[in-house]
Amino acid sequence: MSLFDRDQKPYLIAGPCSAESREQLWQTAEGLQSLPIKLFRAGVWKPRTRPGSFEGKGVEALEWMAEIKKHFGFSLTVEVAEAEHIEQAMRYGVDCVWIGARTTVNPFQVQHIADALKGTSLAVMVKNPVNPDTDLWQGAIERIAAAGIRDIAAIHRGFSMYKSDSGYRNQPHWIIPVELRRRMPGLPIFCDPSHITGKAANVATVAQKAMHIGFDGLMIETHIDPEHALTDAAQQITPAQLAVLLDGLVIRREMA
Ligand code: PEP
Ligand code: MN
Repeated sequence: MSLFDRDQKPYLIAGPCSAESREQLWQTAEGLQSLPIKLFRAGVWKPRTRPGSFEGKGVEALEWMAEIKKHFGFSLTVEVAEAEHIEQAMRYGVDCVWIGARTTVNPFQVQHIADALKGTSLAVMVKNPVNPDTDLWQGAIERIAAAGIRDIAAIHRGFSMYKSDSGYRNQPHWIIPVELRRRMPGLPIFCDPSHITGKAANVATVAQKAMHIGFDGLMIETHIDPEHALTDAAQQITPAQLAVLLDGLVIRREMA
């Protein structure tokens, strides 16, 4: 059985950008418990553009994640950026790891992570690289597959650009995930509207667009108190807002 069941759309991943405190994680999980969440996400090691910003709580946050799994029954996913993160995540019962956009660009680093994944039964999600390069995205997925990982999914989170006036934080370039799907037809592809739009008010519109194109699932950043979030405050939505978003979604089965 694959963790990423493609028969049920959308495969839903939700939780805060970062694990900030035990209370913040707990309250967010409480808000999400009545929703059809397949994976509870939180960043415990945060790749920040500039030094001096909140860089995550590391292993302490993994302890909080383990408590969430035990109490609420959610499967867990965290971002990994170093080979050592794999073992640490597994020690705390993480079920799935994701490779972030800043890591996917680096084949050496992806290979280190792939080597550390060998022999594990973790599921792995690979975000697109920050630059619009389908080959680089595919190459990272191939490295993870070659390490023997069976449950692999891709996450489309948009592509960075210089001074956007497009209204997007990261350009979607929808053709790229569609091209990836053509190349790798069996691969589940999820959309991360939060990082594409960068604005809470537009998350639902981008999520609907992704469902219209035929993405298999959604990763949506959800925080109990987005205004006071330590990372990505502008784009996180509350669990209550996520419930409204899900109610309004129209689902299409196949990718266009
Ligand atoms: C995140 O999911 O919080 C994150 C840092 O993602 P990305 O790699 O897409 O920037
Ligand atoms: Mn984020």
